[in-house]
Amino acid sequence: MSDVIVRGGTLVRPEGRLKADIRVSEGRIVEIGPDLKGAPHHIDATGLHVFPGLIDAHVHFNEPGRTEWEGADSGSRALAAGGGTLCFDMPLNSTPCTITPEAVDAKRAALEAACVTDFALWGGLVPGSVDQMAAMAERGVVGFKAFMCDSGMPEFPYADDNTLRDGMREAARLGLPVAVHAESEEMTQALASAAGSTATDFLASRPVQAELDAIARAVDLAGETGAKLHIVHVSTGGGVAKAAEGRARGVDVSVETCPHYLFFTEDDLDAIGVAVKCAPPLRHPDEHAMLWGEVLDGRVDFIASDHSPADPSLKIAGDFRASWGGVAGVQSTLAVLLERGLDGRRLRFEHISGLTSANPAARFRIPSKGALLVGKDADLLLLDPSRSYTLDAAKLFQRHKMSPYVGFEFTGVVLRTMRRGETIFLDGKIVGQTKGKFVRPDV
Ligand SMILES: [Zn+2]
Repeated sequence: MSDVIVRGGTLVRPEGRLKADIRVSEGRIVEIGPDLKGAPHHIDATGLHVFPGLIDAHVHFNEPGRTEWEGADSGSRALAAGGGTLCFDMPLNSTPCTITPEAVDAKRAALEAACVTDFALWGGLVPGSVDQMAAMAERGVVGFKAFMCDSGMPEFPYADDNTLRDGMREAARLGLPVAVHAESEEMTQALASAAGSTATDFLASRPVQAELDAIARAVDLAGETGAKLHIVHVSTGGGVAKAAEGRARGVDVSVETCPHYLFFTEDDLDAIGVAVKCAPPLRHPDEHAMLWGEVLDGRVDFIASDHSPADPSLKIAGDFRASWGGVAGVQSTLAVLLERGLDGRRLRFEHISGLTSANPAARFRIPSKGALLVGKDADLLLLDPSRSYTLDAAKLFQRHKMSPYVGFEFTGVVLRTMRRGETIFLDGKIVGQTKGKFVRPDV
């Protein structure tokens, strides 16, 4: 791959913006400054913003074994089209689930053959998998994901307190984080058995308190065991605040939220339908406002898509009980942050670049990624911040074109995505010639 200079763009970094050229050689950023010379190829970024490539720490590409739902090929193309260059695939929804070293090997091989972005893998923490964690760590997983309530998949059972405690102890020994889906099993089970099939019934079955209770318990267990804790897809401002209380007590806890909690509220459920059924569910506008407040105050560590598509036959219009849960939004993370963050809320470009790149790279110890700095991988996206578009299903690269964002208008167009110096997405098309690489944490 020959050297290239990305010329004249405005670099967006958490610490500020800088108008500068970037010289890329052998997939790395080798020089940043004005009027760079010494490369045979130039990419004109005049008038454009250059962000580090998005790191999406939470996707379900369902490969191997359930590619009729998504697949790493289509899923990673969608990620690249939204400016992403690295994803972390979750351990469930694939077959087998990633709860043994052999399953890590199988998933790594499948993604190496299919993914256009780079990828990392989560291992699973389920009853009986604690003694597999060390071998999975050796294979390079970024951490271990556990459910504190029913996952919906019998082959990925929820982690009771003993499993969670033992798993956190082992994760602490291995120096890796445990990520939890934080909703209380007791509360959600009891309420779900009484629920009907409307959006209102579904909301009643998964209350805010179920999230708060589970976060409190996870934080206590992390404090007891010394584990690093990561709370995935926090849906409430109160949930972020609970995690922050833990952090103030010295517990090593991070939180992510997802674009759908920042874009929609429960008032949208009837209009958008089961495309936006997810767990935890969308929240009341007051809760949504508090979550935004936490993002703006810097207490949310990063934003991940939790891209979780299913076969369309599993999404039954109007039936919030029977429909499979999950939002398919991997292509729209940056779009949502730009659209809903910049205007009235004054989220800054610099903050977005931390939320989508620098912070997940730091949290999961991937020092080669996430920043526009000399020596880092040349993972970046070029954004035209002034252009607007209405999202059309035909522009989605995911396997099934169901996305709650279809039909909405967004300002800010990703024109080009570069992964390790190679342009993989350009002007609406996937153009990458090589596949992504497996990325392991620097533990
Ligand atoms: Zn998920």
